[in-house]
Amino acid sequence: MPTISRFCPQCKKYARLNVLDDKALICPHCQNQWGKITKLETIFERCPICTCRQFYTDKDFNQVLGFLVMAVGVVLVPLTYGLSLAVFALIDWLIYRKVAKLVACYRCGGEFRGFNIPSQLKGFMHHIGLKYDKYR
Ligand SMILES: [Zn+2]
Ligand SMILES: [Zn+2]
Repeated sequence: MPTISRFCPQCKKYARLNVLDDKALICPHCQNQWGKITKLETIFERCPICTCRQFYTDKDFNQVLGFLVMAVGVVLVPLTYGLSLAVFALIDWLIYRKVAKLVACYRCGGEFRGFNIPSQLKGFMHHIGLKYDKYR
């Protein structure tokens, strides 16, 4: 089931909503309506929440986990003559590769999970992000 998650602008809580065709996006905490889905296939042409047309892809990855894996590797360096770093870098890479991708909206920060990601979507571009800073 595809979902959209973000911090609700009204109640400031993080909410994850299931997404269906022709369904309004209602915050489960405060019933604030974020927007409405018309067609799932065209969702990345225009953000259903803020009508922004620019999105980026990101790894749906818990950064803390990657950091911990590396930290353990660093701690073990004196015991393993540096071999642990290589091993843990490999583990890190394996975890990273298995992680699903998400799509995020530049303007409202909505995170879209479980969708078919259009191939033209790219990772976060700093200069585009700057344009939308004032909305977030
Ligand atoms: Zn809310
Ligand atoms: Zn948006």
